[in-house]
Amino acid sequence: MGIKRAVKKRMRKATWSFFYFVVRMFPKMGYGKPIIGPTLKRMVKLDPSGRTQTYVLNLNKEVHDRTQNVVLPIDMMKRLVRDSKYRAIMHGCLCRTAHSCRDYPVDHACIFIGGSAKAIVDRRMGFEATVDEALAHIDRGAELGLIGQAMWVEVEKHLFGFRSGDGTAHWLEICFCCPCCCSAFKLIRATDQADIKERFRSIGWKAEVKGEACNACGLCVKKCPVGAISLDNDRISIDEKVCLGCGFCAAACKRAAITLQLRTPLKGTVQDYFTDGGLGVDI
Ligand code: SF4
Ligand code: SF4
Ligand code: SF4
Repeated sequence: MGIKRAVKKRMRKATWSFFYFVVRMFPKMGYGKPIIGPTLKRMVKLDPSGRTQTYVLNLNKEVHDRTQNVVLPIDMMKRLVRDSKYRAIMHGCLCRTAHSCRDYPVDHACIFIGGSAKAIVDRRMGFEATVDEALAHIDRGAELGLIGQAMWVEVEKHLFGFRSGDGTAHWLEICFCCPCCCSAFKLIRATDQADIKERFRSIGWKAEVKGEACNACGLCVKKCPVGAISLDNDRISIDEKVCLGCGFCAAACKRAAITLQLRTPLKGTVQDYFTDGGLGVDI
């Protein structure tokens, strides 16, 4: 191997190591600490001027209330892919690799869509995917029982070198997250900062428990990736403000005591959700 290639290989390895380090540290930073907290939030664009926003798109069809004639989130996600000009699938899931996930495959990673996503391929962090490849990737994510999320994470433009500057998002990220390793879920659990928690949202669904069917086994409490469920005096309660409507609790409950209810009418497309701070989406 030539010296140039060896150096490049080493640099790529160092870059990946840096990303794993960032992913591991991201949820644990002291966002709530006096003085240093606001600085950290500004650095990772989670301060009030940052426009980071994410939406859970539950891919588990079984937990949907079939009596409601609504579009399924997986179909909204597929439409997002069809609407996009460019798609890049990452070679590996940063969170699962960084946390050595034991329950879900590390090779099932995010899809970046939109013109800026070319930077992922240029940096050899992923490969360009056709529409059909990206759609099949979504189906596999659902089969694996992963949680779908559509994200726009502002700090990624610096991390991955995405085009920016005109106030428009030229990329969105479609994620397939596990309840154990996803840094976004870890951050929600770890932080006491309401303005940070508020950036991670359901597109409309919330979990609801039928008290009479519940035997207080606590399985759902363990499964909730963001700590939205608590069990006190044999009673389950769900914090609606924190619940992302991911459906993990409903899938785990053996007594069918939890259902997902559509609380807010769905918007037309996934792009329509990304409006915080005047963000527009051109993918
Ligand atoms: S956000 Fe989800 S898909 Fe993306 S790297 Fe983390 S766990 Fe993987
Ligand atoms: S998993 Fe079901 S039965 Fe068990 S505590 Fe949760 S809601 Fe109740
Ligand atoms: S309460 Fe259920 S639906 Fe809500 S975030 Fe927790 S696991 Fe997901």
